[in-house]
Amino acid sequence: MCGIVGYVGNNQAGPILLEGLSKLEYRGYDSAGLAVRDGEKQVEIVKAKGRLKNLSDKTDEGKAIKGNCGIGHTRWATHGEPSEKNAHPHMSDDGNVVAVHNGIIENYSEVKEKLLKKEYKFYSDTDTEAVVKLIDYYYKKYNIGPVDALAKTMVRIRGSYALAVMFKDYPGEIWVARKECPMIIGVNDDATYVASDVPAILKYTRNVYYIGNYEMARITPGNVEFYNLDGERIEKELTEINWDAEAAEKGGYEHFMLKEIHEQPKAVRDTINAYVKDGVIDFAGINLTEEQIKKFSDITIVACGSAYHAGVVGQYVIEKLTRIPVRVELASEFRYRNPILGKNTLVISVSQSGETADTLAAVREAKEKGNYTLGIVNVVGSSIARESDSVLYTMAGPEIAVATTKAYSAQLIAMYLIATKFAFVKGEIDKERHDQILAEIDTIPDKIEKIFDDNGRIQWFTAKFANVQDIFFIGRGIDYAISLEGSLKMKEISYIHSEAYAAGELKHGTISLIEDGTLVIGVLTQEDLLEKNG
Ligand code: GLU
Repeated sequence: MCGIVGYVGNNQAGPILLEGLSKLEYRGYDSAGLAVRDGEKQVEIVKAKGRLKNLSDKTDEGKAIKGNCGIGHTRWATHGEPSEKNAHPHMSDDGNVVAVHNGIIENYSEVKEKLLKKEYKFYSDTDTEAVVKLIDYYYKKYNIGPVDALAKTMVRIRGSYALAVMFKDYPGEIWVARKECPMIIGVNDDATYVASDVPAILKYTRNVYYIGNYEMARITPGNVEFYNLDGERIEKELTEINWDAEAAEKGGYEHFMLKEIHEQPKAVRDTINAYVKDGVIDFAGINLTEEQIKKFSDITIVACGSAYHAGVVGQYVIEKLTRIPVRVELASEFRYRNPILGKNTLVISVSQSGETADTLAAVREAKEKGNYTLGIVNVVGSSIARESDSVLYTMAGPEIAVATTKAYSAQLIAMYLIATKFAFVKGEIDKERHDQILAEIDTIPDKIEKIFDDNGRIQWFTAKFANVQDIFFIGRGIDYAISLEGSLKMKEISYIHSEAYAAGELKHGTISLIEDGTLVIGVLTQEDLLEKNG
């Protein structure tokens, strides 16, 4: 997701941190911030919304903040809109703990409630602030050092994180902790660097340590000590990076789309975990109550491109499970045809960026007609998110490639969660079926990983058919919906002519276009329809 950097050494930290952040800009962000400390003095924190340039201008390219030890952050908001207040670094009430965080803390509201009872005050809407204050709480309550305070916090929080932390009592040190979010530590003779990704440190060193899940490290100039969750010292091997800067940006993948294809398991997992808590789909956070759900008479989904295709899947799945009638509309058509919406029609919009102009216009149209709007959006604080009555955020992280992959997959999960939740609330499925579906959804990230294991066969297949002129994707039901997306991807990425057809529709004329050399890809994922497509 976002970018984290850290530096301890003999040079001024500000400019190095800013430069490191600029090398992580490709990861996407909405705001940025720095915390730098000059010896024993109080940490200085500077934050700015928007481009890194704003932070750079505020700090005279980092030179205006004195000190040789610091942390920096570019934020991709998941909790709380992009703003200066929500930007990182975050600090505990008295400045004892200052930290930057990448990831999502799933049980942050529970942690926040506990801390509110302990007289902690909260100034931001982020999940991160709760973690920072929890570290401070354990640190003081048990009078323990950073390792144990961090370890206790890691045991208490759920979710994913890369954390870089500074403690008031430990000047000249950065402490880091990690679970499931990227983080590397680079060292040379007199300095140590922390970063979410290799490009940020390549200028200074190629010698890096990888920190594992549930591990911590103490970082001092030119030195790193690693700890496990029990607070015991562990040894790590130093690795040498051979990638050049360009390859490093893409995590070693040839291009961003391939990188993002491989990020699908995480995007899907994070989206599931954001809404499924203890075996229950919890929509309280998205401002959608069970009473409201019960009132919806029908649903209209509006979207464009791949998001529209996610909507077609939504139509099949929601109708099947909930028996609520669903219509999917291309947002660009919807707005021009004075659509008929019932009083209790729920209008769901789908958009990765949350800025798709036609979809936004459709949301406005629906709102004008007095309908309840639910946005499925990937970018926190985007226009559709702000203007919809409820927002279900997909947790895919920034998507850089123009052709969507991981955000589309996360949208599919969103559709399944909505369908399952609505069906259960409306009494269309019982608890047993509900649990079965959730258990099945939970297996999806691993199943996507398994497809990657088949890379060899996929490569063989594509090499064999790369020169075809025409492709037909065919399928029934949701396989048809998937075919629509497959066909769009084919055209968009390969510039090969391609069509998607509902399998039963092919015989009505179009079959005459299928001749020798036309590739027909049958999507056959539903056992009960196998024979029909044979
Ligand atoms: N969840 C945190 C936030 O919303 C961190 C997001 C990030 O990874 O940048 O502030």
